[in-house]
Amino acid sequence: MATAWVIAEQRDGVLAPVTAELVTAARELAVDVAVLVAGGGAEAVEALGRFGVTRVVDVGPLGDVLAGPILGATVARLIGDAPAFVLTAQTYTGRDAAARASVELDAPVLTNAVGLRRDGAELVTEHQIFGGSLVVEAAADAERVVVAVRPKSVVAVEVDEQTQPTLSAATAVTEAPGVMVRVIERRREERAGPSLDEATVVVSGGRGLGKPEAYRYVEELASLLGGAPGASRAIVDAGWVPYAYQVGQTGTTVKPELYVAVGISGATQHLVGMKGAKHIVAINKDKDAPIFSVADLGVVGDALSLMPRLIEAVRERRHAS
Ligand SMILES: Cc1cc2nc3c(=O)[nH]c(=O)nc-3n(C[C@H](O)[C@H](O)[C@H](O)COP(=O)(O)OP(=O)(O)OC[C@H]3O[C@@H](n4cnc5c(N)ncnc54)[C@H](O)[C@@H]3O)c2cc1C
Repeated sequence: MATAWVIAEQRDGVLAPVTAELVTAARELAVDVAVLVAGGGAEAVEALGRFGVTRVVDVGPLGDVLAGPILGATVARLIGDAPAFVLTAQTYTGRDAAARASVELDAPVLTNAVGLRRDGAELVTEHQIFGGSLVVEAAADAERVVVAVRPKSVVAVEVDEQTQPTLSAATAVTEAPGVMVRVIERRREERAGPSLDEATVVVSGGRGLGKPEAYRYVEELASLLGGAPGASRAIVDAGWVPYAYQVGQTGTTVKPELYVAVGISGATQHLVGMKGAKHIVAINKDKDAPIFSVADLGVVGDALSLMPRLIEAVRERRHAS
């Protein structure tokens, strides 16, 4: 019987929401769901029991190293020759882990999966192509398979009866080739409010804002709504905002309750990262802009004159309540 191994995604030792998504997907693949964490094992046992995990294996905090390759090599060591599915998130850490696990296990790796299921002994994954306009299925005909799953593509679902995962310690594999990279400096992106991928409201700006200074409208509205500011790739490439703000195929996938797109055309590569939002509001001066095809509320007009008025209206509403 294969075990489904999940490499936990953690931020400052705390489990990131995508871990629960990975575990939910893993439950479809195997009865035995093991999660590899780097520190915080006891808290992980408590949190992951609600999602039906059977085992938590803790290698302890990794310190100033690149966690991905080490976790990938460690999970491979734990699996040995046994049949297994290894799930990681499609993130920087998760991709590093998937690559290293694949090499160490000599197993195929499927990346950017948006769905996965068992078909008999086979693992079948779903992948979006052509900017998300088509979904193709892939099947890995192997006893051990590594899959990197795109965050927000699986809805995390708790189990009816909470499990009591066992907790064990393991030694991190630090000597494998490719795990010798050391982090020499960390710079934290200064960001007030929630992170882009976890925010319930995201306000994104695009080239239609006209000039970098106009991006402050996006930040102001996001802050007023308790959300996170995002961006199209056009303004990231233009250097208006850092890459961490980019929403889309090559940026972050968001699934907020409300997504406001300001001066964004709605190229397929942008849509694929935000069309899962519950409500979409778009402001664009071109009534034929593709963003309106996914918008619940479309406002045709000049963002530069609308945004100050919208911000004012939201502010007034907040004062009134
Ligand atoms: C491999 C690949 C990956 C990519 N990945 C991503 C990705 O992850 N995310 C992403 O966003 N893009 C991505 N792109 C780029 C994508 O194809 C588009 O080029 C990009 O999304 C366009 O950004 P934009 O909508 O801001 O700019 P534009 O396409 O130039 O659109 C600007 C819009 O603003 C409107 N506008 C102009 N002036 C005003 C005004 N005063 N008021 C209101 N509206 C106005 C215009 O009508 C227009 O619709 C990728 C492309 C490739 C090839």
